[in-house]
This record gives sequence, C-alpha cells and structure tokens, in this order.
Amino acid sequence: MDKNSLHVKRKNFKAGEIIFNEGDIRDNAYIIDKGKVDIIRGQGGKASKFATLTIGDLFGEMALMEPGLRSASAIATEECSTFVISSNVLEDRLKGLDPVVTSMFNMLIERYRFSRIEKDKEVDDSNDHASNQSATSKILNDFSKRKAVALKELGLEQEIRYALYKDHFKPYLQPIVSLSDRRIVGFETLIRWHHPERGIIMPDEFIPAAERVNLIQAIDRKMLEKACEILPEIHKMVSDQNKPFISVNLSGVNFEDDSMVLGISDVFKNSQIDPKHIKLEITESAFIGNADKASKILDGLKALGVTISLDDFGVGYSSLGYLHKFAIDGIKIDRSFTARARDNKKSMDIVSAIVGLAKTFDLGVIAEGIETQEDADSLMKIGCIEGQGYLYSKPLTVEDAMKILA
Ligand code: C2E
Ligand code: CA
Ligand code: CA
Repeated sequence: MDKNSLHVKRKNFKAGEIIFNEGDIRDNAYIIDKGKVDIIRGQGGKASKFATLTIGDLFGEMALMEPGLRSASAIATEECSTFVISSNVLEDRLKGLDPVVTSMFNMLIERYRFSRIEKDKEVDDSNDHASNQSATSKILNDFSKRKAVALKELGLEQEIRYALYKDHFKPYLQPIVSLSDRRIVGFETLIRWHHPERGIIMPDEFIPAAERVNLIQAIDRKMLEKACEILPEIHKMVSDQNKPFISVNLSGVNFEDDSMVLGISDVFKNSQIDPKHIKLEITESAFIGNADKASKILDGLKALGVTISLDDFGVGYSSLGYLHKFAIDGIKIDRSFTARARDNKKSMDIVSAIVGLAKTFDLGVIAEGIETQEDADSLMKIGCIEGQGYLYSKPLTVEDAMKILA
C-alpha cells in the first residue's frame, strides 16, 4: 500500500461548497477542525436539515464501517477545514492498538450501526431509559474530552509533517566536556522546532506525539543528516588529535523497524563522514518488547562504526541488566540523578556505584545536568570523567557552537 494513503490529510471547503451528496459512493469520514457543516436529507423541496455540526464533530463515518451509498448530503455552511479519515488510515491506526481495544472498538461500531438502524425504525427503549441516561451522559462527557485531545493530536501531526517538509526542525548543540579541564570532547544534538507562529518549541512538547504517530523516525533521521553535515564544519575548527564527536538521540520507536540500520547506513553513505565520530543515544525503551530484535539492530548499528550510549541511565527500572547484554559503549547518567546527588549522600553513593560498575564493564560515563562547580567536583571525585550541563553551556545554535570552538 502507498504509505501516503495512511496519512490523515486536511481538506478545506468554501462556504456553500458540497462535501458529498446523498447517493454518492461512501469513501471517507471527516472531522471538522474549523467551520460548520450541515447534514441534509432528501433533495429539492423535500430536503430537510438533519444536523448542524461544528468543531470536533465527525461525519460521513458510515464510510469507515461498510461500503455503500451516502444516505445524506454534507454542505459547508461557512469556510471549513476538515481532517479526512479513510478506512485505510483507521485500519492502520487500529493495528497498533492492544487487541482488546481493537475488538472493543469493532464491537462498538457494530452496536452503533445496530442502534442507528433501530433508531430509524423508531423503536422505543422506554424500559431502561432513565437508568441509561446518566451513564450515557457520562460517556458523552468523557467522549467530548477525548474528542478535543484527538483533534489536537491530529492538528499536531499535520503540523509536524509540514515542519519536516519546510525544514523547521533545527539541531541545537550542547557541549560535552572533560570535567577536569573543560575541554570540549563532543556535542549532543538537541532538537528545537522553529515554529513560524509559536516561536521555538521544546522537544518534550512534540516528541511524544511524533512517537505516537510514527513521525519520530523521520525526525531522528533528519537530525542525524544534519549532524553529519555539521561534523566536518566542527572538525575544521579544531586540531587533528582533538576531534569532537556528535551525538544524536534515537527514539526507541526506531527499533520497531527492521530497515532502521539500512536507513542510517544510507545517511552515512550520502555524507562521507566517518561514523566513528557519531554517537547514537538510545534509552532502555528500545529494549522493551523484543529484546533479541533490539540486540540485533544494535549489533547492526555498531557494525556501521558508530558508538552507542545508553541515555537517561538510572531512571529506568532494570538498567543494570542491559549493560553486559547489549552492545553499548557508554552510559549517560540522567540529570535527575545529578540533581539528587547534590544534597543527598545516598544518591551520590548510587551514582558512585554506577560509575564503578560502568568502569568494570569498560564503559564510558557522561554525567548530565551539571549546574554547579560542586556538582562537577563531586562527580570527578567518584571517577566521572565527562559531562554536560548549564555550568558549561546551554544547548547552542550551530552558529554559536562554532563560535565557542574558534
Ligand atoms: P535528553 O536526551 O536527556 O537531553 C538532555 C536534556 O537536558 C536536554 O533537554 C537539555 O537541554 C537538558 N539539559 C542539559 N543540561 C542541563 C542542566 O544543566 N540542567 C537542566 N535542568 N537541564 C539540562 P531538551 O533539549 O529539552 O530535550 C529533552 C529531551 O527530548 C531529551 O532528553 C531527549 O530525550 C529528547 N530529544 C531531544 N532532541 C531529540 C531528537 O532529535 N530526537 C529524539 N528522539 N529525542 C530528542
Ligand atoms: Ca540524550
Ligand atoms: Ca538524558
């Protein structure tokens, strides 16, 4: 199937424009993002308005349930913007869900279809009417909240696609330094969304959504491509024996895709950099699910020549087990650990144990979130060699990162 057919598309209509006519073949359902739509039954003098729908409302949904002809017409009564949902899109999204949720969804659709037929026959369900009332209003209440969330998510998905197309995602670079002399040993790329209206958007605001709708792979690949473009520029600024690495964050979602290694290898082929200067930062979420598959992918990545860092170390639940099982070169101690260690001896003991353990496995250690010289001193005392944090520098634009190297 063409991958494009699995995207939710936006379609706009002018005031007075017919979206579909009664008797047309059913194809898509629509969700209104802006404007109003009238649903009309019958034609000519016999036409009667059935409903006026507005933002967040769904119409034409029978198209998702069974083939056939439209039983009503839809007309935009003012300028309208809609999300077009095809049955392919719906099927694709249901595929990723828990099977229980999928089957419940199908049952609800069946019931909905049945209740529509019953309603058309005007069957009176007076018996449990009253008791059903409050349950129904609760469901409708919850539903309207979810509707708002779904609408926001659909809008965000559209915007992310547009931002990818328009190249609005920019890599910022945070220096990683040798703690003893502050020499820059590398940079971590941290994404920022330069939104034309909303300004700079931080990753926590869109990465989770990008992961849910499978756009994170394209985003991460883009950041890797950009890192490969920046690397030679950085290397031009420094002496030969002191070439910094660039690290790129790779969401665990990438590990669901068997062709990931091939995709990354293509990026390297097109860029002609030596992958040994690239570090891929992954979190343990990559291993959850299919650990064997993840392990093979990691081996494939290592074979390309990159190094692998386990990010957010210490926040997961069983991180230690991963250290010897997977082809990892180093760990990054999460900044929440560095922060806690600041005034809590027990936390510092844990960080110290982690550093010791990493050393026995011959792994590199980078401490994150170093904000004060005291942080740096106590980390050095327990044997931590490298780190990053606001004490040294915030994430910088590429231009500013070049300046500090000059
Ligand atoms: P992370 O990989 O753990 O990145 C470190 C985060 O800590 C960054 O937040 C950085 O700006 C922040 N930070 C650095 N030094 C300090 C400090 O001294 N104090 C404090 N309080 N914070 C510090 P940021 O840039 O907002 O990124 C958040 C997360 O978003 C990242 O956490 C990473 O998980 C994710 N992310 C960023 N860029 C990408 C990307 O290109 N792809 C993917 N998949 N995820 C990304
Ligand atoms: Ca990271
Ligand atoms: Ca981290």
